[in-house]
Amino acid sequence: MFPIRVLILLALISVVLSGPWATICSGKNKNTIRNHDDFGSGKYGASRGGRKHKGVDVECTDGSDVYAPFDGTIVRQAKPYKKDNAINDGVEIRGEANCVKMFYIHPKKYKGSIKKGEKLGILLPMQQVYRGIKSHVHIQNCDLSDPTSYL
Ligand SMILES: [Zn+2]
Repeated sequence: MFPIRVLILLALISVVLSGPWATICSGKNKNTIRNHDDFGSGKYGASRGGRKHKGVDVECTDGSDVYAPFDGTIVRQAKPYKKDNAINDGVEIRGEANCVKMFYIHPKKYKGSIKKGEKLGILLPMQQVYRGIKSHVHIQNCDLSDPTSYL
């Protein structure tokens, strides 16, 4: 039998090696972080006035299908804004190794299991709210750590 410390180490390694997230937006062959545009940069930690951007923005066209990044459970609706607008919707998804909030999507459901790569919903009409921005899905870790390495 392996000593418990070895088993814990193996479990940690398997989490680290669990691999990158699925491609999040239909019509794209990889997850591309929104580069700088008139509204700023979509990178983690980018400046937002006096605050910092707490997630990453993955480029996606308005109305595109959006897919789940990993196997998990949609636990609740998650909205980016206090005041409603055309893109104020999203979900929180918990999986074995990850918990994320994904914004600006109209999800097909607000609760229940979802598989990696399964259709989660569609991107809301971001150009109606931020004309000229590179439309995107905003993904942030529930603990607000940097999600970039999972993309
Ligand atoms: Zn964002």
